Amino acid sequence: MYMRPPSQILKDSIKGVASPMLDALGMFDRWIDQVRASSSVWTILMYHRVIDRPADDPFGLGMCVRLRRFEEQIAYLSRNFNLLSVRDAAACLERGEALPPGSLSVTFDDGYLDNLTLAQPVLERHGVPWTLFVATGGLQEGQSFWWDRVIRAFAATEATHFDPDALGEPLGLPRLPLAGSERKATLEAVLTALWDLPIEQAMVLVEAIEQQLVPNLPADRGPQAPRASWAQLRELCARGVEIGAHTVRHPNLNLQTPAAAAAEMQRSRRVLEEALQVPVVGFAYPGGRMSRSVVETARQCGFAYALSTVSCLNHLPSDLFALGRVGMPDAGVADFKRSLHGIAHRSAQRPVLTQPAPL
Ligand SMILES: [Zn+2]
Repeated sequence: MYMRPPSQILKDSIKGVASPMLDALGMFDRWIDQVRASSSVWTILMYHRVIDRPADDPFGLGMCVRLRRFEEQIAYLSRNFNLLSVRDAAACLERGEALPPGSLSVTFDDGYLDNLTLAQPVLERHGVPWTLFVATGGLQEGQSFWWDRVIRAFAATEATHFDPDALGEPLGLPRLPLAGSERKATLEAVLTALWDLPIEQAMVLVEAIEQQLVPNLPADRGPQAPRASWAQLRELCARGVEIGAHTVRHPNLNLQTPAAAAAEMQRSRRVLEEALQVPVVGFAYPGGRMSRSVVETARQCGFAYALSTVSCLNHLPSDLFALGRVGMPDAGVADFKRSLHGIAHRSAQRPVLTQPAPL
């Protein structure tokens, strides 16, 4: 079983000390006060999972926030910002009205079970409205997302090397080591390579990777990433959570024809609307992959807005079909303030359509 290497633990510890020191000096608060006073900045945060077992996040790929830290983040946000769902904020802008000062929206992508069991009680306690973008493929059958199958195989394997030549389909990578800290780098290279392939080919390779690394692994072994069932999604709807579409198979939409991309968008929306009996007006691009053609497709599909994973604050007026989001770190409030500060200063010079963050 993979263990996080000492170098990564040391890096996390330094961040855990340096950011609170700078925060204690008021380094970030002066700037955040300006954001909180502004009606022309809309901050949208992106989460994927909240976890209470560190073993479920063996590689620290940036998708999981520990429950204790999540509680700290949400308590801080609810005290300091005007929180509203993406749907309500987008509707406000569509009507030509200004957003309240310090507007901030909380979003989750994909549709994990922990969004209901761990995140929702915290969000509800603090009165935070939020939006969940659900990928619908395999949900009925309880299948894991394709990247979680790869992560689990890499975490549990006893192999010393990963051999792409033995997969039967080209992945475009050489033979790579799995020892120590090299395992995470190899996993990241494999996930990136899979993102660069059409979804049909990627799914064949995911199956082959499992066969190579963990043939016969029992279902309850290795890190777990259960998804919310339809009944659990209905419960979230009943509690007032906004549900958005996130395609069926979670493909790289840039690699699909406009017709195929439109089918992924519309099918996931229709399935959600029929199963949950709620209107679905929002969309999030899987992995943030969004060419100009994909953005146009989302617009033509009749959504009210679409979110990317481009790491930036939204300086209004913004294109409602290319909104940026801040990926939330598995870190305390001081480090969150530091990363928000850094993102805002970087995004000031960045174009909207840039290379997005993974997943
Ligand atoms: Zn996603």
